Amino acid sequence: MKKNLARLNRRQFAGLLGGAGLAAFGAPGALAQVNAPSVNRGANGRVVIIGGGPGGGTLAHILRRGSPEIDVTLIEPSSLYTTCFFSNLYLGGLRTLDSITHSYDGLTSIGVNHVKARAAGIDPDKKFVRLEDGSNVPYDKLVISPGIDFKLEGIDGLTERDFDVFPHAYRGGEQSRLLFSQLRAMSDGGTVVVAPPGNPYRCPPGPYERVCMIANYLKQYKPRSKIILVDAKMGFAKQALFMQAFETYYPGMIEVNLTNDIDNQQVVSVDRGTKTVQTAAGMKIKADVANIIPPQKSAPIAHQSGCADGDWCPVNPENFASKLVPDVYVIGDSSTAGDMPKSAFSANSQAKSVSNHIETTFSGKPSYPARYRNTCWSLIAPNASVKVGAGYRVVDGELKKNFTFVSDVDEDAKTRADSYKESLGWYAGIIAETFNKRVEKI
Ligand SMILES: Cc1cc2nc3c(=O)[nH]c(=O)nc-3n(C[C@H](O)[C@H](O)[C@H](O)COP(=O)(O)OP(=O)(O)OC[C@H]3O[C@@H](n4cnc5c(N)ncnc54)[C@H](O)[C@@H]3O)c2cc1C
Repeated sequence: MKKNLARLNRRQFAGLLGGAGLAAFGAPGALAQVNAPSVNRGANGRVVIIGGGPGGGTLAHILRRGSPEIDVTLIEPSSLYTTCFFSNLYLGGLRTLDSITHSYDGLTSIGVNHVKARAAGIDPDKKFVRLEDGSNVPYDKLVISPGIDFKLEGIDGLTERDFDVFPHAYRGGEQSRLLFSQLRAMSDGGTVVVAPPGNPYRCPPGPYERVCMIANYLKQYKPRSKIILVDAKMGFAKQALFMQAFETYYPGMIEVNLTNDIDNQQVVSVDRGTKTVQTAAGMKIKADVANIIPPQKSAPIAHQSGCADGDWCPVNPENFASKLVPDVYVIGDSSTAGDMPKSAFSANSQAKSVSNHIETTFSGKPSYPARYRNTCWSLIAPNASVKVGAGYRVVDGELKKNFTFVSDVDEDAKTRADSYKESLGWYAGIIAETFNKRVEKI
């Protein structure tokens, strides 16, 4: 029974507790008895985490390892998580989807309770999470890391039902598979539209790495095809590096249309029947494949829990505690994190700070000042990556960069190959921290 407990779904788990339901879930005795008899689980508090991506997974892992007396429950409806990071390499034909898909077995093996359900709301006074089926999971501290949702109001003709024709591929897994299958089905000479949103959004360099990786695929298999970038912004992350990559590796394949003072190239309507994309400036493109990446906001549960103010969730930058709801933290893409970009690296870094804060809050020991890091590598061609990164500190109540670095435009092939190797090491490292899983470097 002990071995399988962490794999049970919520109903099975409630049944195991003798019909007491999940209100008994965090009761120290119940957990100590059935889940981890070797440690006094739950004696030092119940931490519930919503969302098993790099934010939630990292936190579950390090909290469980660092403080085995804390009872850690991860609410995540899926059994498998496919990373968005490295999904562009899949689109480029350089990696399989399987190689970027990971299970929660490594977390359950160390005693994290995985409740396979979707959170629908919280009661901040009684301190429980309400699941979609109406049952409750009590917490002492709650951490929300649910990622993003899309704002579709500004794009005529685009609803969630149209993501089968216009895949955003900005949540991992099925959407990436769909975009790649559309690219494979396209004839040579076809037109691919990539439409990044305005700021802020998940992974600022992601759309431009994607353009490089799609171009890498087309160059080999459909060399007469072209990519049209219609961007809602004036400029974008690592712009000089990407522009150079477009010209060097994929000459003549990529047309770049930025929104500037004269032209607004933000996508404002799509037509499902004809796959036509129209921008505010009136440019109409008949696409064969259209990757529309809509503007973004925090995931629904962040709003349902009362943590959002507008699109995103304001937090105390020292520890990512919600500014709106007591005993709740918000990390990862859903949070407003000052200068920090919305990235897996950031979410992982924030999880470490929250872990420290929760551990010291429970134990009464002093916590150390928060320091955060981020690096984003982008693969621009096989074996050639560029990177940008920064460190962050709290200055006057805001998270500010305290150092930055970025690849040189004219660096040599070896430096770019070394950056690619670094990115492989980072991927293996963050997967180990998020899922307690060993990934072979490729
Ligand atoms: C194309 C692309 C490339 C990228 N490349 C990089 C990169 O190279 N480096 C980098 O650092 N970042 C990269 N990113 C960004 C990175 O993927 C995200 O920033 C990161 O996944 C955010 O982590 P998170 O934990 O906030 O949310 P997510 O990873 O989105 O995880 C959220 C989890 O919460 C679950 N969830 C949502 N709602 C509920 C609910 N109500 N109840 C229970 N569970 C719920 C979801 O099922 C999901 O598993 C990339 C993104 C894209 C799209």
